[in-house]
Amino acid sequence: MNLLRKINKYLDYWPNQLAIISFFILLIISIFLTYRIYNNEYGNELIKVKEESFKIKNQLESTINYSSNVVKVISFIAEKNLEEQEFEPVAKSLVEKNKYVDGIQLVKGFEIIKTYPLIGNEKTIGYHLTADSLHKRAAKDAIKKNKIFFEGPFQLVQGGMGIVGREPIYKNGKFWGFSAVIIKTKTFLKSIHLDDFGSTSNFEYQIVQKEGDLSGPKFFKNNGDFSNGIIHKSFIPAGDWYLYVKLKEPKYLNRSIEFLIYGIVLSIIIALYLRKLAEEPLKLESLVDKKTADLEKLNIELENRAKELTKVNKELEYFAYIISHDLQEPLRMITSFLTQLEKKYNDVIDEKGKKYIFFAVDGAKRMKNIILDILEFSRVGKYNDKKEAINLNDIIHEIESFYKLEFPHGKLIYENLPILNSYKSPLIQVFQNLIGNAFKYSKENEAPIVSVKVIEEDDKQITFAVKDNGIGIENEYLEKIFVLFQRLHTRDGDKGSGMGLAIVKKIVENLNGTIWVESEVNVGSTFYFTLPKEKE
Ligand code: ADP
Repeated sequence: MNLLRKINKYLDYWPNQLAIISFFILLIISIFLTYRIYNNEYGNELIKVKEESFKIKNQLESTINYSSNVVKVISFIAEKNLEEQEFEPVAKSLVEKNKYVDGIQLVKGFEIIKTYPLIGNEKTIGYHLTADSLHKRAAKDAIKKNKIFFEGPFQLVQGGMGIVGREPIYKNGKFWGFSAVIIKTKTFLKSIHLDDFGSTSNFEYQIVQKEGDLSGPKFFKNNGDFSNGIIHKSFIPAGDWYLYVKLKEPKYLNRSIEFLIYGIVLSIIIALYLRKLAEEPLKLESLVDKKTADLEKLNIELENRAKELTKVNKELEYFAYIISHDLQEPLRMITSFLTQLEKKYNDVIDEKGKKYIFFAVDGAKRMKNIILDILEFSRVGKYNDKKEAINLNDIIHEIESFYKLEFPHGKLIYENLPILNSYKSPLIQVFQNLIGNAFKYSKENEAPIVSVKVIEEDDKQITFAVKDNGIGIENEYLEKIFVLFQRLHTRDGDKGSGMGLAIVKKIVENLNGTIWVESEVNVGSTFYFTLPKEKE
């Protein structure tokens, strides 16, 4: 059950389906090709055997032709009744000339009357062919065929194995006897270039006198199985022989199996590879899905955080507003009562007491400034007025007149400033703060020189630079000075709250700009800020 479920799950995955289908398709192609290769290889090997068989058959037939010529000459002599004088010399010369003929005989009726060479073959003279049923039948077959017909291989009367080819002789149309050639098995095998085992490196051979009868008299001493394998069989009528040629080690099956194995292995590899390829997009898809889900989660988190932040911010701004608004009243009271105290009890209070009152009033004033700044800071971004075309030259001119009184030796350089479409009061605040700081943090022994310039302008934004020759800011504080209540320099009479730059930064960023500073201690500072050409 469990296994079935596993198989089902495995098959449900489409890369697995692709792998299985492609494996079977490739397997079918492999089997088909294997079948083609099997047929081809089998055909090629069969052709090889056939060619070998024809070669041997040709050699055999040329030996038979030799013999046929020999018996024809002897038959001629007998027909002309010249056998007594001519048999011996003619047979001699024929045997000497034909290396594949071992002996020649003349048979009258069925009795051997002449043999060449006689020496060693004396026993044959007077032998009657009818004494042996096989000889008799073969002789009769020769008469029937009326041309040379071989018998054998058999045990020759004169000793040794061999074959005998007989041709009937007719005198005046009447059967007279046979002319015959004797070929020893050894000579015969030599003529077809084979040894008596009928075996070469590639083939195995057998010649028998009856179809399929491999248990009867054979030419070769092998026991090869010629009933199956790659075999070619051909018939040689001159002896009613059957020539069998068999390929010793057929390779067609091995080659086909080899190919099939390669095919199966390749099919598996390709199927696995296709599975891997098909998996890639799925993996990517799931990765994308996961990442998208993560991002969505993160987005929601961010949105929530932003909402929370906006809420907290609003609360904070409201809080700052309330505090600074409500604190003003008691402060005013402290100042006014302290002033009353100083006035009414002027005679009673000694110098020390007057000094204390002065410090207390001064502290209260400073606190008032701080509260006003906080109020200002909390108000940034809440502009009730509308955008308008602002000529910056006019604004700077106003600011200039303000600082001329405090720094009569100072210089404010500006010219050809652009006209901006923006909110007026925050812009004035930005320039006033920056120019104010530039004068405020000037060197004691050097007249302040402050310049306001546009250093870069494109379609989208304008970059301003407010440069001074003041005391400069150490590198480590370049970022910090934009943070609320961060002050580096506090001097006597310096009424700063440490909020000026924090307010400037908030305004600039609110108008979609950025602000940064470059400075060198004792040389001067340059405050850069960008403003978009149009605030959306
Ligand atoms: P503050 O009320 O102290 O001027 P700001 O926020 O305007 O507060 O400035 C923060 C601090 O940055 C100042 O206390 C001062 O140390 C430094 N600073 C601002 N402008 C300049 C300047 N142009 N040259 C040198 N130091 C400056």
